[in-house]
This record gives sequence, structure tokens and C-alpha cells, in this order.
Amino acid sequence: MISIADNVKNVSQRIQKATKLASRDEKSVQLLAVSKTRGPEELKMAIQSGLTQFGENYLQEALVKIEALQEFPLVWHFIGPIQSNKTRAIAEHFDWVHSVDRLKVAQRLSTQRPSHKEPLNVCIQVNINDENAKSGIPLSEIDALSEAISKLPNLELKGLMTIPASSQSESDLRNSFKQMSAAFERLKQRHPSVDTLSMGMSGDIEIAIEEGSTLVRVGTALFGARAIPTEKNTENN
Ligand SMILES: *Cc1c(COP(=O)(O)O)cnc(C)c1O
Repeated sequence: MISIADNVKNVSQRIQKATKLASRDEKSVQLLAVSKTRGPEELKMAIQSGLTQFGENYLQEALVKIEALQEFPLVWHFIGPIQSNKTRAIAEHFDWVHSVDRLKVAQRLSTQRPSHKEPLNVCIQVNINDENAKSGIPLSEIDALSEAISKLPNLELKGLMTIPASSQSESDLRNSFKQMSAAFERLKQRHPSVDTLSMGMSGDIEIAIEEGSTLVRVGTALFGARAIPTEKNTENN
């Protein structure tokens, strides 16, 4: 039987080792537990192992967990594709959004962010490999979108996020991460609020950290393999 506690230990050790190899501070990389398709009981086990940051892709499913786990001081990150009609609930219930790739969505999130809450932390999703992918902007559009987002009152521009094509060789993957890292360094120069490069998942934590990631989004290595996504999940998104 898999133990989430053991998995948390294992992933933490992978992060620790990778930061050490890259001569980076261990604390310079955050672990975001990607909990899509997982129930509140599984999240509780991760919480008991010390995790506080959770990433969700599907809004309806996430809202149930946010409600069920209210008693814990957690930080919720929305990491899935965003439909315009879902922005209000995202702005109301999440602390971070990693998947902003359109000004219209950013504007709605800013307008709909409740005034008693801190500004919503946002990362711009960059499509680093696949020209035809549905989500993310090309590198060439980062300057314009980041400039516009930085002017929105209820958003805090935090950085960049990417999901590289999974089919590429290790050297191509590394090259994708290097391009992201360079874009991140440029963005930091222009916007002092920027401190987050969200890249790396269960299979490529080490390469991502070596290439400068500050936050790895890890699902499978913490919770085990996911069931094939259901119709319901797709609809809920
Ligand atoms: C599902 C998901 C992850 C986690 O992937 P694993 O390979 O299970 O670690 C990370 N980021 C995003 C955006 C995801 O949708």
C-alpha cells in the first residue's frame, strides 16, 4: 500500500537533493501538492505530513475540498484552464492562479477579487513547445501581458508557469526549461513582485530545479497514479 506520508518524505528528499546539486538554497523551491481527483481524506494525510499548498484543476471539485478543509490554514492554487464564467469563484476562493493566459481573464479576476482579501497572486502560463496548444501564451507575448496584468489593482503578478510537452527528449525538455528561466529572469527585472517560476512535475522535478524552478507542482509522486479523467471532471473544469 502506498503511504502518502512516505511519498511526501520521498518528494521532499528529491527536492532537497536537487537543490543541493544545483548549489541552491533548499528553501528556494516550494512544493505544491497537485490534488486533482483526490478526496479530502487524502489531502488530510498530506496536511498531516506538513504540506500546506494545494493545486487544483477543476473548480467544482476544488470548492468541495476548500469547504471541507476550512479548519486548516491552507494555500489554494488554481492550475487548470480557466473559462470566463468560472473567474468569480476562482477569485473568491483561491490564493493563487497559475494559468492566466488572457487579459480578459486577468481583468475579470481583478474585478471579482473580494476587497477584503489580499490581491490574488497570478502567474502567466507560457506555452513553451506546442504552437497549437490550447493553453498558454508564446514567449513573445509575455512582456505585453505582464505589463497589463501589473496594472490591475487586485492582482499581484508573481511569475510564470509552464507545462512542457511530455513527449520530448530530456535535452529538449531541459532546453524548454532554460528558455522559461531566461524569460523569468527578464520578467523579474521589470516587475519587483515577480519571484515564482512554476515548473516541474512528478517526472522532472530534478531537471526543473536544476534549471531554476522555484515551485514544483507534484501530483502522482505524492498521491499515486490518477484514474483516467472522467467526463464529469472535464465538465467540472
Ligand atoms: C496534473 C498536473 C500536475 C501534476 O502532474 P504529476 O505528473 O501528477 O505530478 C502539475 N501541473 C499541472 C498543471 C497539472 O494539471
